[in-house]
Amino acid sequence: MHNQIDIPYKLKLLNSNSEVANELISFIEEQEFRNVAFITSKTPNHLLTNSLEVAIFDHVDKLKTFQVVSPSISFVNQLQLSEFDVVVGIGGGKVIDTAKYAGFVNEIPCISIPTAISNDGICSPIAVLKEKENKYKSMGAEIPIALIVPMHLIEKSSEDGILSGIGDIISNLSAIEDWELSKKETDEYVDDYAVMISKTAALTVLLEIKNSMLLKKTKDNFLKDNLKIIVESLALSGIAMEIAGTSRPASGGEHLISHSIDELFGAVKPHGIQVAFGSLITTFIRAELGMASYSAFEEMKAAFSYIGLPVTLSQLGISKQKLIEAILHAPNSRPGKYTILNKIKLDEKNIDDILTKMFAYAGAKV
Ligand SMILES: [Zn+2]
Repeated sequence: MHNQIDIPYKLKLLNSNSEVANELISFIEEQEFRNVAFITSKTPNHLLTNSLEVAIFDHVDKLKTFQVVSPSISFVNQLQLSEFDVVVGIGGGKVIDTAKYAGFVNEIPCISIPTAISNDGICSPIAVLKEKENKYKSMGAEIPIALIVPMHLIEKSSEDGILSGIGDIISNLSAIEDWELSKKETDEYVDDYAVMISKTAALTVLLEIKNSMLLKKTKDNFLKDNLKIIVESLALSGIAMEIAGTSRPASGGEHLISHSIDELFGAVKPHGIQVAFGSLITTFIRAELGMASYSAFEEMKAAFSYIGLPVTLSQLGISKQKLIEAILHAPNSRPGKYTILNKIKLDEKNIDDILTKMFAYAGAKV
């Protein structure tokens, strides 16, 4: 028996609204979808949504656009999609997650048209949705059947959003360490191909950052030259999660720290920026425990500094006391996930000592 997984039919990186419209029309016709639901949010994607509505109108029997008011589980549950064959998410991460989950509960496929690349959910089988205030839940869903990326909009999307996408990919390296640790400590099943794909995606981006540093490229040029690689790596992360059947290849202790910040204090930065910071912490803890070299931490920190991901408390925008609280609470944010945080004494003094040492080691001002 082989591991059977679903791979999206299409991965298209396009450069104008009309190219996206033509791709969507030909795919919908190829798949013989007649009743199409769009899920989107008001700004700043309405121009793309409008041009897709106009273009697709003559090619389908029924088209309806749903505006995401609040990207929550309860919002999805009240959506009426029984008359539709396919749901198309057009927008940022929360819109795509809403569309994926809406497709899943209504048992119809989802097409992903992301206008931002701030996390690895652009084409993954996981949807992170609000359950209640500050409490988000990772819901299982189907991986989209097509990923169509309007690169002209990604180019104009916020730099923080792109940095967040980069942070989310590089955090795979920490996630994989935790998954393998869990295999050793709890006998959790680890899928070799999911590991390979997730790690390759992360290392590709990290290597591009290192090359750009060597070539003394500006950060802006790095971002401009590597958008395609970032999108493809995020898509690979989605495939790794599809193979694993869980978020494990892309989410470990560094994600727990970020989820915990969200739960206790509300997000201080976009998801991927927080998990990147979490990766610095988990990577340092591994070095402290003799499970990895300090150079892995130094390399990661240098790469983050170069592209503008936070490496100090003030850059992240959180106090040390709050970060300590978030780390102490982190395992409770997704109970049952075994990570490096299970290997250390979770008391205030120990976490304070680790952080003090980490910031001093990095030579950064706290
Ligand atoms: Zn993530």
